Parts: sequence; C-alpha cells; structure tokens
Amino acid sequence: MSVLVFVENIEGVFKKSAHEVVSYAKAIANTINQPLVALSIGDVKDENLKGLSKYGANRILTANSDKLKSFVNQAYASIIEAAARQENSSIVVLSNSFSGKGLAPRLAAKLVAGLANGVVELPTIEGSILRVKKTAFSGKAFAVTELNSAVKVIALNANAFELRESPVDAEIVAFENQPSPDDFATVVKEIIRATDKVSLPEAEIVVSGGRGLKGPENWGIIEELAEALGAATACSKPVSDAGWRPHAEHVGQTGIAVSPNLYIAIGISGAIQHLAGISSSKTIVVINKDPEAPFFKVADYGIVGDAFEIVPKITAAVRSY
Ligand code: FAD
Repeated sequence: MSVLVFVENIEGVFKKSAHEVVSYAKAIANTINQPLVALSIGDVKDENLKGLSKYGANRILTANSDKLKSFVNQAYASIIEAAARQENSSIVVLSNSFSGKGLAPRLAAKLVAGLANGVVELPTIEGSILRVKKTAFSGKAFAVTELNSAVKVIALNANAFELRESPVDAEIVAFENQPSPDDFATVVKEIIRATDKVSLPEAEIVVSGGRGLKGPENWGIIEELAEALGAATACSKPVSDAGWRPHAEHVGQTGIAVSPNLYIAIGISGAIQHLAGISSSKTIVVINKDPEAPFFKVADYGIVGDAFEIVPKITAAVRSY
C-alpha cells in the first residue's frame, strides 16, 4: 500500500504549495508506515521532478502528453485515479487549490473514497479511521471530519503546513496511462493571467483594502505596502463590485479563501462574509478608524486610526528595515 500525492505544476514549475503537500503527505506516510508516491501531470523537467524527493517522495510518477499540458479536470482525475489504483493507495493527498477544489470531489467519487477538503492540520489515524480538522461553511468555522472509507482523499489548504525536508533517493517513472477521449470533452484553450504579481491564494502575506479606502485612486497606499512586504493585494467584495479592484482580488465567502501567515486588513469592517475567506490566516492585523469595527474581535493586532495616516508610515518603516 502507499500514500499518493498529486503535485500541481505551473508551466513546469512546482510552487511552494506543491512542496507543502508533499511534506504533508510524507508526514502521513511516516505515521502509517507506507511509502510516498508523488504524481506529476504535464510537462515537467526531470530536475524539477527530482526536487520532490527532497520532501520525501520515494517514487515519482510522471504523466505527460501534449493534451495534458493544461489542466483538464476529468482527464487529470482519471489519471490520479489510475495511479491510486496501480499504487494501491490508501490515502490520496492534493492541494485545495483552484484546480484541486474541482479535482478532489471528482476523484473521491471515482475512488469511492471519503473526502476531507480545506484541511488545515495533520490527521490522527486509528486503524481505518482518519480524523482531520478542516474549514467548514465557506471558511466561517472549523470542523473535525472523520473518514472511515477504505480509500481517503485529503485536499490541503495552502500555507496550512510547513515545508519539511526529508531527502530520500527516488526513482522517476513514466506513468503511461492515457485518459479516454471523453475525458477531454471540456478543455482549457488559453490561460490569460490577470496579473504577474504574487498569487493571492498562495501568498504568505496579504494586504487587503476595503471601502474605507474611499476610491480606486487611493489604492496606491495598499500597493506600496504590499510591494514593500512582498505581499499580494486583496479587497472586500464591495470594492470589487464597484470596479475599484479586479474580482480576482475579492476575498471572502463569495470570493477567494486565503490562508497567509499575515493578513493586513485596511478599512474593512469585518463582516462575517469577509471573515469566511480569511479564517485560516495565522496572524491578522486590522487598521480601522472605528474602534467598534467587528474585525478587531478576530485581530491579533489592531490599530485604531486613519488608514491614510497609518499605512504610509508602516510602509516607510518596512522599507527602512
Ligand atoms: P464597509 O462595511 O463599508 O466598511 C468600511 C470600513 O472602513 C468601516 O469599518 C470603517 O470604519 C472603515 N474606515 C472608513 N474610513 C477609514 C479610514 N480612513 N481609515 C481606516 N478605516 C476606515 N464581503 C466580502 O468582503 N467578501 C465576500 O465574499 C462577501 N460575500 C458576501 C455574500 C453575501 C451573500 C452577502 C449578503 C454579503 C457578502 N459580502 C462579502 C459583503 C459583506 O457583508 C460586507 O458588506 C462587506 O464585506 C463590507 O465591505 P467593507 O468592509 O469594505 O465596507
């Protein structure tokens, strides 16, 4: 038996979240004393694949063909299913990324597996029962889910687990299984990147602005602080609804869920629907001129005051650091 981890690449490169899922899956594999098999789909060079062994992958399967260069949900799910069956995997781990959110339930259905998605911690495993903490109700709460199926699928949130190096010698093996033509009924023709800046779902630091910023012309103070910190920028829903910022930056129940190490909320009231998207953040800093703003209740650090005075001072301090 084995633990299988599906490792996503972006244009042939594994991002930090990919190495996080391998570290996480390795910790599970060690707990249940099974080897860790990593599966990569798409065109990734051997030297990048080999890097997965640094985080403990014992075997690295690589499935590649022209049709698999872009993410295709059905086809990718079919390949992961075939790999899980071939490797007799009891647990399949993948990232709860944009692609992973679509893949995980499809894969669980194919494998007749129990599914825990939005997972934020290592599970406890007793016999065939696995218990794990995950986000629930669109991120408004946490729940402990119990899986007792023979095969289990876990989708891990970005930034929820630290990188852990545990180098092993790994072999790279071509995985020849080809999906059926039906799996390509829907394909991605073109990917248009909204921005070249730090990717929001994976960002370790997020600087986020709300309606308190008054208008798009004032977003410079958010961008300057983000640039100084190497952070991604985000916003509340009314801000993107008003067209001040792109919808891709909208965080919350109806937007993107983030789990950075540091979330800085500037001029955002802290409505439950916004908090839903940030509940897994490790440290929350709130800047708001209203001391009664609900956001302060979940803040680790709060500054009561005018964002237009405070934010440039923080940016200057970060730059001089
Ligand atoms: P406001 O509520 O207007 O708050 C602005 C804040 O800025 C205030 O707290 C104010 O004190 C502060 N402020 C003003 N001036 C300054 C200043 N100079 N310096 C510092 N602080 C200042 N919202 C989301 O964000 N994400 C979602 O996914 C989402 N989904 C929703 C889904 C549903 C079904 C519904 C009904 C609502 C949803 N909302 C969502 C909207 C949500 O309820 C709030 O209306 C929204 O989050 C408020 O945005 P805001 O905090 O930017 O604006």
